Amino acid sequence: MINVEVWKEISAELKAKQVRLVAVSKQQSLAAIRQMYDLGQRDFGENYVQELLSKQSELPEDIRWHFIGHLQRNKVKQIIPFISLIHSVDRLSLLQEIQKQAASAGRVVDVLLQVRIAQEETKYGMSTKDLMALLETYEASKEQWSSVRIRGLMGMATFTEDQEQIRKEFMEIKNLMTLIQESHFLFQSDFSICSMGMSSDYPLAIECGSNMVRMGSLLFGARGYWKEQP
Ligand SMILES: *Cc1c(COP(=O)(O)O)cnc(C)c1O
Repeated sequence: MINVEVWKEISAELKAKQVRLVAVSKQQSLAAIRQMYDLGQRDFGENYVQELLSKQSELPEDIRWHFIGHLQRNKVKQIIPFISLIHSVDRLSLLQEIQKQAASAGRVVDVLLQVRIAQEETKYGMSTKDLMALLETYEASKEQWSSVRIRGLMGMATFTEDQEQIRKEFMEIKNLMTLIQESHFLFQSDFSICSMGMSSDYPLAIECGSNMVRMGSLLFGARGYWKEQP
C-alpha cells in the first residue's frame, strides 16, 4: 500500500535536515493514512474541505492537519476548530475570514501566504505585488489580526524537467521570504516557515532553503479515490 521504506528513508533524511515532512494524503484511503500514522507520521496535508472533514473525524486527534488547496471563504469555518496550518492564503478576504472564524472559535490559527512564481496560469497564489499589498493592509491594522499568525510563505515551482528553471523559482520564493522577514517581521521568529517542494522537486527545494516539504505520490503511490470501500 504505502511505500514504507521510502517513508522511513525520507522522513529520517528530512528530520536530520530539520525540514518538516507534510504527507499529502489527498485521495488516499483512511487505511493508508493510518498505516503512515503508525510509522510515526503526524503531519498530513489535504486540499479539499469535505475530504479533510471526513478523514479528520475518523482519524487520531493528534494528527496535525495542513490545508494546502484553494480555500473558499464559505468553507473556512468548518476547518477552523482543528486545522494546524493553512498554506494557501492567497487573498486579503480569505485572511479576514480566517481571522473572524478563528476569533469566534477562540483560536489563533497559523497561516502561510501563497505566492505564485511558477509560469503556469493554473497555479494559485499571489503575485509579488499582491503579496506586498496584502502585507501593507496587514501592517496598517495590526490589532485587527489577533487570531491569525502569519508563519511564512508557500509556493510551487513550474512543472518542468528544467532543473535550472525550478531552482530559479525556489530561490525567488526564498529571497522573497528573506525580504519580507526584514521588512515586516523583523525580530518575529514566528515568521519562519518556507513551504516548498513536492515529490518531484523536494531535494532542490531544500537546497534552496525550504523547511517544509509537501509530499504525496512518492510516499503513498498513485492517488485514487479516497473513500473506503464498504
Ligand atoms: C498534491 C499536492 C502536493 C503533493 O504532490 P506530489 O507530487 O504527489 O508530491 C503538494 N502540494 C500541493 C499544493 C498539492 O496540491
